[in-house]
Order: sequence, then structure tokens, then C-alpha cells
Amino acid sequence: AALALTGCGRSEPSTSGGGASGGTGGFPQDSAIGVALPKKTSENWVLAEKLFNDGLSSAGFKPTVQFANNGVAEQQNQISAMISKGAKVIIVGALDGSQLGTQLQQAKDAGATIIAYDRLLLNTENVDYYVAYDNFKVGVLQGQALLDGMKAKKPAGPYNIELLAGSPDDANAKVFFDGAMSVLKPKIDDGTLKVLSGQTTFEKAVTQDWKAENAQRRMDTLLTGSYGTASLDGVLSPNDTLARAVITSVKAAGKPIPVVTGQDSEVESVKSIMAGEQYSTINKDTRKLVEHAIVMVKDLQAGKKPEVNDDKSYNNGTKVVPAFLLPPVIVTKENVKTAYTDDPVLGPITK
Ligand code: BGC
Repeated sequence: AALALTGCGRSEPSTSGGGASGGTGGFPQDSAIGVALPKKTSENWVLAEKLFNDGLSSAGFKPTVQFANNGVAEQQNQISAMISKGAKVIIVGALDGSQLGTQLQQAKDAGATIIAYDRLLLNTENVDYYVAYDNFKVGVLQGQALLDGMKAKKPAGPYNIELLAGSPDDANAKVFFDGAMSVLKPKIDDGTLKVLSGQTTFEKAVTQDWKAENAQRRMDTLLTGSYGTASLDGVLSPNDTLARAVITSVKAAGKPIPVVTGQDSEVESVKSIMAGEQYSTINKDTRKLVEHAIVMVKDLQAGKKPEVNDDKSYNNGTKVVPAFLLPPVIVTKENVKTAYTDDPVLGPITK
């Protein structure tokens, strides 16, 4: 990675690994397991709810899986209630990864093991494991896809692009952005890429709550403000929901659709890729991620230390969290027909 990240987020691979404290002792097979999910901001979260309920139940556990659609306080209360129920493992997809410190301390004091799911838990000692698709890599793939897509349309630059980031309370948003900028920033610096709005920082690029309407509004403003006559060649979008908002905005402005990246392989976006509108998405199969989180729970139940494959990349500001990272895969029109062959929903659609 080319970027030196400060504080939270993905650290340089040279950082020394942190030891996990969870994973000894074991617990009864029919124990309570808590799963705290954020808001339903994309299809992956909705699917995760069902997969956690089904997978944990069929393994004999007693799951409580909850969304925090009303905000951080709701998620804090849900985690407290999971602790009261005696949950042995609490899996957290944080709404705001830095606002759960008190509850995570209580969970630890009660003897629970804490697994951060998809989003890292920040600034706390009390997170034992992290299971996720490699978020920095997601950003790198998005940045590269943006360049590739624009080159395919127009072999030589300069290219005009705009940048969107995710919600600032989601720890992943900055990591996605940093990953993408590790590819794009050198090209901005050498003049190959131009951001006519001048909005190149994460803070300027964020989309509160990952909401389509917020992305669309910002895009409308950017188009009016900077692209009256100039053409827009590409837009870095961190996920599919926002990618479709960008496309809606440019269509409404009567502009040709630029190269737009995405993430999550949402049904509408996969169809859009096949139709030649959205340029790319990322395949992060939710089934595999949930399955792996459940493997960790089973290991902990049996008194085994869960397997990790990365103990140096994800620094949460307090410690480097031992992680099991799955590889994200870029999908464009070129490989869309083969990317989802084993996916029960996308497989049939992309045949
Ligand atoms: C997930 C993305 C998702 C976003 C919005 C992120 O934390 O990693 O897959 O697009 O949340 O729901």
C-alpha cells in the first residue's frame, strides 16, 4: 500500500501482530449468540440477517440477529441486551465502529468473545477477531477498474473524474477510499486525471448513511457546478446503491453515462452492467462471509482458537485485530457471465 494511514484503518503490513484473547474454554452448543447488524443500507446486510439466523440455528446455537435502523443508541442497547441474555459470542457489524466502546467492555467483562463482522470496531481493545472481505483491496480494485474503463473508451487522457465515498461513520468507507486513492492519487498528481470540482478529500466525498438520495444530490450539484460544457469520464462510486444514484443523476442531466464503479453485486447493478450502463461491481459473496463467521463461532464453542490469515493489516487505533480476510473479485461486463455461476440469485440472471 502506498498510503501511510494514521490512526484507524488499514495499517502498513510491517506493523506487528496483536494477540487474540478469545478462543479458550469453549461453551455449550446451545448457547446464545448475538449478531448486531447496522442499517439495511445494501442487499448484503439483509441477506446476512437470514444467513446468520439459518446458519447459527442449524448449528444448534440460539441466535439473536438485530438491525439498528434507528441509530447508534439502538445498537448499543441491542448489544447490552445480548450480554444480559448471556451471549457467548457477539458478532458486530457496527453502525458506527467507534461508538460501542462501553458495550464491548461490558461484553468482555461478561466473558463474551467479540467478532467484528465486515466493518472493523475502532479504538477498543475489546475486539477479538475480524472477518471481512479485504476492504483496502476492494478500493484498489475500484480505482483500477475506473482507469481501465476510461482507457477502453478513450485510449489517452486526461480524464475528468469525480469521487464519491461511503458514510463517514462506517469504518470501511475510509478504507475503501484510501484503497482507491492509492491507485488514483498518483494519476491526479501527474495530470492524467482531473477532478474539476476540486473535491478530492474523503471529507468532501462522503455520502452520509450510504443513502442514494444524498449521492444523487451531490452528483446533481457537481454536474451543474463543473460539467456545464466539460465531459465527465468517470465516477468512483464505493458501492452499487450509490453507483445507480450517480447514473440516475447523469441521465437526468442529459449527459452520457461515465464509467461508474460499484460494489456488492446488487441485482439491479448486475443487470445494469450487463446492459452496459454501470461499469463494474465487486463480488463479495455474503454467504461465504457469514459462513466463515459461523466457523469462528463453532471453533470458539469447541474451545479452539479460530483460524486467522492476517495479523498485521487492520489496526483499529488501539490494536491490530487478527483477521480472516476473504478476497474481493472485480466484475465487469467482461466476466459477468462467469462470475456468479454458484450464486443462487445472480447465477440464473447472468446466464
Ligand atoms: C460494506 C459494503 C456496503 C456498505 C453499505 C459496508 O460496510 O462493506 O459492502 O456497500 O457497507 O451498506
